[in-house]
Amino acid sequence: MLQGIGASQGYGIGKAVIIEDISLDYSAVKYTTAEEEKSRLNKAVEAFTAETREMAEGLKASAGEKEAEILEGHLTMLADPFMLSQMNDNIDGGAVAEAAVDTVCTMFYDMFAGVEDEMMRQRASDVKDIKDSLIRILLGVKSVDIATVPKGSILIAKDFTPSMTSQINKENVSAIVTEVGGVTSHSAILARAMGIPAALSVINVTQIVENGDMLIVDGFKGKVFTKPSDAEIAEYTGKQKAYLEEKEGLKVYFNKPTITKSGAKKKVYGNIGKAEDAQNVIQNGGEGIGLFRTEFLFMDRDREPTEEEQFEAYSTVAKAMDGKEVIIRTLDIGGDKAIDYLKIDKEENPFLGFRAIRYCLKNTELYKKQLRALLRAAYFGDIKIMLPLVTSLDEVKAAKALIDECAAELESEGLSFRMAPLGIMIETPSAALISDLLAKEVDFFSIGTNDLTGYTMAVDRGNANVSHLYDAFQPAVLRAIEMTIKNAKKAGIMVGMCGEAAADERLIPKLVEWGLDEFSVTPSSILQTRRNICECE
Ligand code: PEP
Ligand code: MG
Repeated sequence: MLQGIGASQGYGIGKAVIIEDISLDYSAVKYTTAEEEKSRLNKAVEAFTAETREMAEGLKASAGEKEAEILEGHLTMLADPFMLSQMNDNIDGGAVAEAAVDTVCTMFYDMFAGVEDEMMRQRASDVKDIKDSLIRILLGVKSVDIATVPKGSILIAKDFTPSMTSQINKENVSAIVTEVGGVTSHSAILARAMGIPAALSVINVTQIVENGDMLIVDGFKGKVFTKPSDAEIAEYTGKQKAYLEEKEGLKVYFNKPTITKSGAKKKVYGNIGKAEDAQNVIQNGGEGIGLFRTEFLFMDRDREPTEEEQFEAYSTVAKAMDGKEVIIRTLDIGGDKAIDYLKIDKEENPFLGFRAIRYCLKNTELYKKQLRALLRAAYFGDIKIMLPLVTSLDEVKAAKALIDECAAELESEGLSFRMAPLGIMIETPSAALISDLLAKEVDFFSIGTNDLTGYTMAVDRGNANVSHLYDAFQPAVLRAIEMTIKNAKKAGIMVGMCGEAAADERLIPKLVEWGLDEFSVTPSSILQTRRNICECE
């Protein structure tokens, strides 16, 4: 069994088709004249443009408008006069058209690949795609014919560029496996949009697997079973059937409002960690975003994101959600989420230490950048701000004072902003116990059962010896949840839940009975959660 990253849900059983890299060696191409090379380049650009337009049209039908924009982005990039004039300059300097394309695209590639912003890094793979296509056209090499693979094929490649993915006929492709790429890569986004199971970053898969090998791909767990036994094939055929039936059955809930049998209207939202994930929420039928974990914007980098970078991420989500509610949680670091450059001292008890709102209120320079970015982004959609790990009224009052300060600054600077409503997470026993008092200070609550369970039961969920106590169904946790919902109702504020328990089918009937308004879950659990709520009295 080979292990990669599960990037698109579902199970694929079928035969391997290895998509070989085609040779783009142009060392034998001889320079003629500058005019001739420029004319070859122009013709290649024209052919590329026509080919890409056609592929974008095809992709619109098979994956969707948004996905086709990835290919349309290639055209915009190549239309940049700077890129083409650089290529022509290279030709004037004696380079053949292929070499000019290679040099200029590689320069852009290096520029994009070196930046920290994930979205910008994606541009690097777009440039590589443009480069390979142009050189292929110049050399007159035919591209791999992905469109005609037989039914039941599992496509294996080093990587799938958007232009390769756009040729996929989803009726014939059972799964996709690559050696590189993660859940936010274009191949992953497109695989999800087409509903094809995918396992990415499976090391050396193109060497280990041979054409025609029988394979099983588990797109949930990122597993690839090579030469599976009959028992494994039977097991996964059963899993695949059950998954497809479940998925089919859930489709009816896609555009349905979330209403219980007795007519109570509820909302099912999605949880996200990156701006791009907003698409995932929409594609899964989410009515809004109930938790945007902003700490991921601060992780895997060596300096904090600027106000502008944060504004870009938050406003992108607000625009993508097109007027739907977006609840953005301010930085929740510390505990198990370490960020080296923030230089938080090592602590004896990090989960009880200097984390989340506690850290932010002591580091106001950093916190104000985030609050300013949030208020500015709120101008573009229905953004609400949410504070993590609240334990006292003073913390809420201090955060409100900082938000007011930021609003006054933005006003005097003449920048557009909107005063976003403020809510808090109820994820500590102390917050649940004073939820009547907190409800008077804020516009909404969202119950974070992941932490609330741990703190209420005094359990470290990583410790196997006590993990049996880590259960949101424990009476103590249920009481904390019920108390919070009742206090929110009494104060007339909205109350949601964004911990994993919001998708727990055992708990949903109780949450409905107590009056929870909004359930925010992993995007892939949205439809299931809606069905479970609709089946409640
Ligand atoms: C929670 O604690 O329930 C929660 C949603 O926050 P996180 O999982 O990010 O701690
Ligand atoms: Mg939490």
